[in-house]
Amino acid sequence: MQPEALFGMALGIVPPWEVTAVIFSKESNRLDITIDFQRGATFPCPVCGAPASAYDTTEKTWQHLNFFQYEAYLHARVPRVNCPNEGCGVKQVQVPWARAGSGFTLLFEALVMTMARDMPVNVMARLFSVTDTRLWRVINAYVEIARAKEDFSDVKRIGVDETSVKKGHDYVSFFFDLDKKKLLFGTEGKDNETVKAFVADLKKHGGDPEQITDAAIDMSKAFIKGIKEQLPKGIKEQLPNAATTFDRFHLIKLMNETMGKIRADEARLFPEILKKSRYLFLKNPENLTPEEEQRLDAIVTSQSLKSTEAYTHKLNLQNVYFAESRQEAETLLKQWHKKTSKRHRPYPEDVQDGKGSLGRHLELL
Ligand SMILES: [Zn+2]
Repeated sequence: MQPEALFGMALGIVPPWEVTAVIFSKESNRLDITIDFQRGATFPCPVCGAPASAYDTTEKTWQHLNFFQYEAYLHARVPRVNCPNEGCGVKQVQVPWARAGSGFTLLFEALVMTMARDMPVNVMARLFSVTDTRLWRVINAYVEIARAKEDFSDVKRIGVDETSVKKGHDYVSFFFDLDKKKLLFGTEGKDNETVKAFVADLKKHGGDPEQITDAAIDMSKAFIKGIKEQLPKGIKEQLPNAATTFDRFHLIKLMNETMGKIRADEARLFPEILKKSRYLFLKNPENLTPEEEQRLDAIVTSQSLKSTEAYTHKLNLQNVYFAESRQEAETLLKQWHKKTSKRHRPYPEDVQDGKGSLGRHLELL
């Protein structure tokens, strides 16, 4: 078998197209494959499908998957056809191995899209010796095709998460469907403008902002100077029927951070009691090993500590989420709020009453 026929088979080239030349150059580190159409060939008209003959041609090149370590390129003269049917006119033929307007073959693009899931685009760019701009163009094209098909008509409960690439810089906001656990929309920025952009996109995909009943937001970021009111305000304006909630994950995270600070500060005062106790306080009680449980018990009963109190507040806050009814949750949350608003009593007094704060608070519940 001739190399031309072999490459034609490997590439899935079918008439009227055929591989007419294969040039391999070790020096220039590349493989060049020329594809051409047979003389007098006809192509289906891109408008009506009727067989039409070539009118004129343009030379084009596509980068293909590497041939082992060698870069591979396809070349072809792509015809415009003159359709015999009135109203069609002169039209560009679509080649079967590439997307219209792309400088890469479909197989190359498929590889790019597969690798892009796990690999940074600039790393891929180096690997393929192409600019990352060209790869982004491929990725954006397919993302647009996929997003155009999205249907947001049944979105009712959303989560909003803001994050910064660097601390305090370049914010991006993400909007999730909480029921489907799926990303709906992402945009630069962190204020009510992002909610506007989300709502516009939601409508574009058949969604209804008035149908949104809940919006969960990330509490810690809401307290960053200057945006405290922005996001809730945006939600109120753009999603009139949505109740705003601080999401559980960030709330518990914030509680853990506060507890961690209290514990770290106190560990300086009582190093013999609190040393190496960080994870005991952070872990959920049901995940503690028997030894860890024993150590934590010893800490919370040894002396009334602010750390112990903070730990109790954390457990009580988590318990709100295990409430079996809305009423029970409200009661638990009110109790939690009342207790967390109280100041810690001075150490000596606590020691005298003979009980750790944990015991006291558990009794109160
Ligand atoms: Zn036609």
